[in-house]
Amino acid sequence: MNQRMKQFVCGAALTAFLTVTPGLGSAATYTVQNGDNLWLIGTKYSTTADQLKKLNGLRSDSLFIGQKLIVPDPPEFMMTAVRYGDTLWKIAQRQGVPITKLIAANTQLANPNNIWPGLEIRIPKIPGAYLNGVLPLAKGTYTPFYNNYAEARAWSAEGPAVRAHEGVDVFAAKGTPVYSALGGTVVKAGWNEYGGWRLTIRVDDSTEFYYAHLSKYAAGMKEGVQVTAGQLIGYVGSTGYGPEGTEGQFVPHLHFGIYKRTPTYKPIDPYLILKWWSL
Ligand SMILES: [Zn+2]
Repeated sequence: MNQRMKQFVCGAALTAFLTVTPGLGSAATYTVQNGDNLWLIGTKYSTTADQLKKLNGLRSDSLFIGQKLIVPDPPEFMMTAVRYGDTLWKIAQRQGVPITKLIAANTQLANPNNIWPGLEIRIPKIPGAYLNGVLPLAKGTYTPFYNNYAEARAWSAEGPAVRAHEGVDVFAAKGTPVYSALGGTVVKAGWNEYGGWRLTIRVDDSTEFYYAHLSKYAAGMKEGVQVTAGQLIGYVGSTGYGPEGTEGQFVPHLHFGIYKRTPTYKPIDPYLILKWWSL
């Protein structure tokens, strides 16, 4: 986590320039822009700086403006070729994706009204559930996130032990507002050695959403309270990894998890769902 933050030099807006590279399946090329670095480009394509280095045979982290990099297609999209007579609206209808989300998924297009047969565009993958949720962080308040679900984590309350990361981290400044992704009931509030100040919200009989490392709660958040989708529930922080009040053991971020309660209580990968909400 810290390693990635060190590589983050400048938050300049990213404009992706994609072209299909023959012979590389659906892999695309990316042209390095002013202010880019490997970490930033990696988050844009749901990969890591190390993977980008491997993919491009780079020996160092330094990049130059105009450099062409091979980038993988983000896992949250399918690539499809525009057919003769297509418009984005027709493609949205055919794929069952809201036009607003289709446009948001294709920021590489200079003009969404100007597409042509053979052009590769991105179709967002539709998650199996929770389509109407909202991303817990507002647009413009977080940095691009990639899938770090199931990555190894070494901290545990009992001492060093490797476990799997049970959610996805979205990085944002301390104090950034956090909103409930769906309506539900707060079933757990208070300190957890891993999650710090956390909230567990039951959104249906079989599912709970988990918001961790908060710096503080919104007014009125306690067990038994009902919340609505989009309601302010707390603020991003870096609490957790120790006894009550511990903070600063890592960079501030929202850890978001989804747990199924049956047949046994266990996490599922929330990445595609978060990406869908982010469009
Ligand atoms: Zn996390």
